Amino acid sequence: MKDERKVMPKYIFTTGGVVSSLGKGLTSAAIGLLLEARGLKIAMQKLDPYINVDPGTMNPFQHGEVYVTSDGEETDLDLGHYERFTHAVINQHSNYTTGQIYNEVLRKERRGDYLGACIQVVPHITDAIKSCIRRVNGEVDVVITELGGTVGDIEGLPFLEAIRQMGLDEGRGNTMYIHLTLLPYLRASGEMKTKPTQHSVAKLREIGIQPDVVICRTQMPLSQEHRQKISLFCNVPPRAVIEEKDVEYSIYEVPLILHGERLDDLIVEHLGLDRTREPDLDEWGRMLERIREPDGEVEIGVVGKYIALHDAYKSIYEALAHGGIANRYRVRFRKVSSEDVEARGPDAMLAGVHGLLVPGGFGERGIEGKIEAIRYARERRIPFFGICLGMQCATIECARHVAGLEGAHSTEFQADTPHPVISLLEEQRTITDKGGTMRLGNYLCCVEPDSAAGRAYAEAEIQERHRHRYEFNNRYREALREAGLRTTGIHPALDLVEIVEFADHPWFVGVQFHPEFRSKPTAPHPLFRDFVRASIDHGRRKNGG
Ligand code: GLN
Repeated sequence: MKDERKVMPKYIFTTGGVVSSLGKGLTSAAIGLLLEARGLKIAMQKLDPYINVDPGTMNPFQHGEVYVTSDGEETDLDLGHYERFTHAVINQHSNYTTGQIYNEVLRKERRGDYLGACIQVVPHITDAIKSCIRRVNGEVDVVITELGGTVGDIEGLPFLEAIRQMGLDEGRGNTMYIHLTLLPYLRASGEMKTKPTQHSVAKLREIGIQPDVVICRTQMPLSQEHRQKISLFCNVPPRAVIEEKDVEYSIYEVPLILHGERLDDLIVEHLGLDRTREPDLDEWGRMLERIREPDGEVEIGVVGKYIALHDAYKSIYEALAHGGIANRYRVRFRKVSSEDVEARGPDAMLAGVHGLLVPGGFGERGIEGKIEAIRYARERRIPFFGICLGMQCATIECARHVAGLEGAHSTEFQADTPHPVISLLEEQRTITDKGGTMRLGNYLCCVEPDSAAGRAYAEAEIQERHRHRYEFNNRYREALREAGLRTTGIHPALDLVEIVEFADHPWFVGVQFHPEFRSKPTAPHPLFRDFVRASIDHGRRKNGG
């Protein structure tokens, strides 16, 4: 029961209206950052109304990347924003879906826990949602819960009902509803339109939720009349109408934009939070300074299957940008479809890049293009960073073209390959389910100090997050080492290869894990920092002749 807690948390709920992809996750994370900067302890959570139990089985082209927490949950990519912006503990309680909630309720029903009651959306599903919200908090001052989807979606209704009840349970002074909407700008008439916002807030109020703040995503500045109009129609004070204009150069500007609109003051006042010092945003500001005024630009080729959707490799692009921040360089991405490499050859697609990154992935489509791209980077001594499937492809490439293991492959793509340099562990061979059956979350890795990875980490033991089924096949370790592929990171308990490096190369590193999930703009991941540094050096070498 809640009485056992020392601190009674306050609750902020962020909802979205009008359209999806407004940057609700980003805005929620920015709110979290502002509260932390004022000395408050926060928790962050995302509730997703879709029926899937987790996004692990969803196509990244539709849903974006699957973000993996340190405790091995496959979650929504908005949690990546939470980790990049805040220090909130992100774990299995940070993301719940309709699927998980129904799973829980149905399990209890089968067990007979409801003692013969008829199970209904209200109260059983809404109670389960509320208990998920309360589970996340720990000892924090504020829990920020973001509701996925857009107000008006049928599947979002039980969640809205649950957060409405939270206001009743916890008291309106302890709960705050923040609604994010879009103010479309019609170029033809030169007008900004508030009607969709009015409708979306009306929809919320129909359910019984009166937003305390309306944040307006807009291309143009909000005029006084717009603020007045939104205030009147949406029933919020004018100062609670917040302008969130499109950023100029980086998404990391958003906290400063919201602070400029005094959003953190509003929150602190509404929730009666006592630590009301001005936020300390110095470190964040210094980081933004480095983004705004870089010393140069470096171009990184990213070769993958889902290149058309930025969100499919969201954390990779972010971590690369962080590597740029560490070196005071702007990172430009050349997004290359691996199938185009197959069709047109690596030179046509990659000539001139300063570094090459091959991210994680599943399925055979485009594999040969990735392998060709890696060969190109190895032979031309272009810095290469392979992540998960990218590391596996690098292993296949070296096996085929350096070690002379003809037809080498991963058994994921060719079960009867003569040289299964990437394969399943013996104990995994009988698993047939697809959901939640991978090596997931943090694993220990011992790093060889005298290696590119060792120099980057400057630590002998590291923990990194995983999400894969297949592994480097230890039967080929010796043959590949003789060909020049070093294994410089090992998970000791199971003797699994976690890092490979090509010795005779300026920077060629493949990692079985996903370092991109741990990178922050204020604490760039060491491997991304060094990869970008090596790419900058490569560019300089080329320019210098
Ligand atoms: N498909 C590969 C595996 O399952 C790699 C997964 C990944 O890149 N995340 O092992």
